[in-house]
Amino acid sequence: MKIGKCRFCGNRRKLIGAHIIPHAIFKSIRGQDGPLKLYTTWEETPSEKSKGFVDHNLTCGECDNSFSSYENYLVNYIKSQYNTNGERFGNTTALIDKNYNYKEFKLAILATLWRAHETNDEHFANVQLTGASANKIKTMLQNGDPGTEADFPIYVGRIKSDEYNDKLPLLVLDPVSVGECNHEFLMLGWRFIICQNNKDYGPHACLSENQLIAIDYSLEGSQEEEDILKILKMDPKKIDKEITKNRKIPIYVIILFIIIFIWALFIKSNIIKLKH
Ligand SMILES: [Zn+2]
Repeated sequence: MKIGKCRFCGNRRKLIGAHIIPHAIFKSIRGQDGPLKLYTTWEETPSEKSKGFVDHNLTCGECDNSFSSYENYLVNYIKSQYNTNGERFGNTTALIDKNYNYKEFKLAILATLWRAHETNDEHFANVQLTGASANKIKTMLQNGDPGTEADFPIYVGRIKSDEYNDKLPLLVLDPVSVGECNHEFLMLGWRFIICQNNKDYGPHACLSENQLIAIDYSLEGSQEEEDILKILKMDPKKIDKEITKNRKIPIYVIILFIIIFIWALFIKSNIIKLKH
């Protein structure tokens, strides 16, 4: 262990190996004795794969531990809810949960974003926040304050495929930037898009205190299809680490889709009200 300045609390302390991608993912997927069964964009040795990306220059143990309960909540949630049937809206379905824990869910994602921004690990080089955004996220984490839905709006989806539904919940991709100021994380078959600013965000579609909306979308025909199929079909030892480096998804297309979906949701709820 080395002594250094913790980038989260600013104190000189013993720095520990901080996991950029939540450690809870690796803890929860590893079998009792067997090798880690994850499909990832990276592959070193099986033992390195099982650790994910660890940065020994980032945080002290106390700060790292402060994220644990959020991350355990998020990982348990996305593992247990991946196969929960969504409500049907026209041609699509969505999981709508009014009883989830907004604070833990959102802070877990923001902690991952903050670490991906702060680390010098080259895998996360394109995850860059402005200084003001990084500071604001740090303060929110330090205060245990998830803010309102407009503070770093987060859009959630579940990637589905009849052919690969057994493998998608074991898929983890490197976080990537989409467009100028949005970031995408793909963890255990869930997709999270985090907006650095709220200029164009669609109210009611992103994570809010009132509800979580996770829109199901098909792997087939999605922007990520090519990358993901390469990983799922490939021998995990031969995965090309460059696969996601240039992944570009038009964020406005995704947000437009979400806004159209929310329209459908409101129309449906108004029809139900009229019927009563
Ligand atoms: Zn610290």
